[in-house]
Amino acid sequence: YENAFRVFFAAKSQNEGLARIMTAAFLSQYDPTLSEITDVKTAVSEAVTNAIIHGYENKTGEVELFCGYSQGKIYIEVADQGMGIADINQAREPLFTSKPELERSGMGFTIMETFMEGIRVESKQGEGTRIFMEK
Ligand code: ATP
Ligand code: MG
Repeated sequence: YENAFRVFFAAKSQNEGLARIMTAAFLSQYDPTLSEITDVKTAVSEAVTNAIIHGYENKTGEVELFCGYSQGKIYIEVADQGMGIADINQAREPLFTSKPELERSGMGFTIMETFMEGIRVESKQGEGTRIFMEK
């Protein structure tokens, strides 16, 4: 990467804003359009929310955020060391949610796919989840 940062923060919903702001501040160094900033912030929000409410089920934990820049592209990683995803293909389906009782719509992964150019999910049950995205 020509430039990059990696941070760890407590898995608390009040830190979602922090993750969005750090991402936007990093991205803004590379002359993005307003919609590019919004898209990347939205995707980061979805991934961070998932780490907090699904990965850690709102219990104690750390979320990792990585942002990298190389040759005109932004690379993002959001990772947790929480419960992991049993069936990644099912999880990525639009409208699939394991928490309908929390009024989740099951659209987080679909939003990440829509707003980013590429997304890859690595997850192991009991070990955690890492989302890779680029734009
Ligand atoms: P929404 O994002 O619309 O509020 P949602 O979070 O349930 O609803 P997605 O973000 O698409 O929908 O995630 C789909 C499912 O994938 C979740 O319901 C959950 O079961 C699983 N999942 C997603 N991220 C993680 C994670 N970091 N750790 C464990 N499970 C996850
Ligand atoms: Mg979600």
